Amino acid sequence: MTGAAGGPADRSGYGDGTRCVHAGLPEPVPGEPFLPGPVFAAPYHLDPAAGPEATPNGYGRPDNPTRRGLEAAIGELEGGDCLAFASGQAAITAVLLSVLRPGDTVLLPADGYFPVRAFATQTLEGIGVRVDFVPTAGPYPALDGVRLVLVETPANPGLDVCDVAELAARARAAGALLAVDNTAATPLGQQPLDLGADLVVASGTKALTGHSDLLLGYVASRNTELLATVRAWRTTTGSIPGAFDAWLAHRSLATLDLRLARQSANAAAVAAAMRDRRDVSGVRWPGLPDDPAYPVASRQLRRMPGIVSFDLGDAGRVARFLAASRLVFAATSFGGLHTSADRRAQWGDDVSAGFVRFSCGVEDTADLLADLHAALDAAGGR
Ligand SMILES: *Cc1c(COP(=O)(O)O)cnc(C)c1O
Repeated sequence: MTGAAGGPADRSGYGDGTRCVHAGLPEPVPGEPFLPGPVFAAPYHLDPAAGPEATPNGYGRPDNPTRRGLEAAIGELEGGDCLAFASGQAAITAVLLSVLRPGDTVLLPADGYFPVRAFATQTLEGIGVRVDFVPTAGPYPALDGVRLVLVETPANPGLDVCDVAELAARARAAGALLAVDNTAATPLGQQPLDLGADLVVASGTKALTGHSDLLLGYVASRNTELLATVRAWRTTTGSIPGAFDAWLAHRSLATLDLRLARQSANAAAVAAAMRDRRDVSGVRWPGLPDDPAYPVASRQLRRMPGIVSFDLGDAGRVARFLAASRLVFAATSFGGLHTSADRRAQWGDDVSAGFVRFSCGVEDTADLLADLHAALDAAGGR
């Protein structure tokens, strides 16, 4: 497993399950755990004479070995170098603020994660950055004069997709940078850097870590200079994840392939079942062959996400459905082990009152479908 000259092992030839189990782990040492325990340190002991030059660890804000292990793991899966952040928002705002300058133009998704839009209008416009919102499915305007394009594909919560390779070619021709929010797909579902994106940003809070017990974000890139700028930003602002959260995240990555496989299979079954019900409308899942996102999604995604969206008509019916269900819990976020549903209008998303983002967990498909049908029947009509 050792790479050339003791460098990181090249595991790119292995399948997803194998890569997840081994991602970012050091060479095994007899008597030591596979995943070294978390290192908690604010300052570290320094060499009295050589100072910080003598070890990779000097102070906890820039340096933490547990965080570096997690970054090696995510970097392996994304196919680039990785920087971990305290949350997805910390990662996304780090890219926006370290790349954009007054007078620059940025394109952001009109139908993406709403706090990014709020940040853009409240903060970016306030410092003289021009912000244009574009629907994920396009059409995208001419990119001349644009500094950065951020897309979210599949988009949360509407699940539209955009063609990353095509947009990357257009961005490169226009001298713009392309960043892709890979939260919904995860690096196993989509490889934006291979498709030509300059940067990946993501929330690791969702399916990547999947246990609904931590917040995490990351930025990945093959552009060393760009990543150095983002790293300097992180060191200065201190938007780092704690050692224990980084360790929990790394531990959780080992099962990513297994979790996604079940979540995606559950989503396929839920989407088909919901589409066949006369009392559910607007079913969206990029893996449904008649979904508007399918033509691009089926080429671009290596696996379909575990999220389905649909409309139950009004807030009351969503509440009755959730009260009647024994396996679906009301919760925001997505990608966790437990199936959850979120009525997005309650958070201010620009969607109808009965719009539900449904996040499939890893329960048995038959149990989930039976519960879903029973709860919808009990919830009654509109
Ligand atoms: C949740 C989410 C974020 C923000 O991540 P946090 O970890 O909650 O800060 C960003 N982008 C997308 C697509 C998300 O779903």
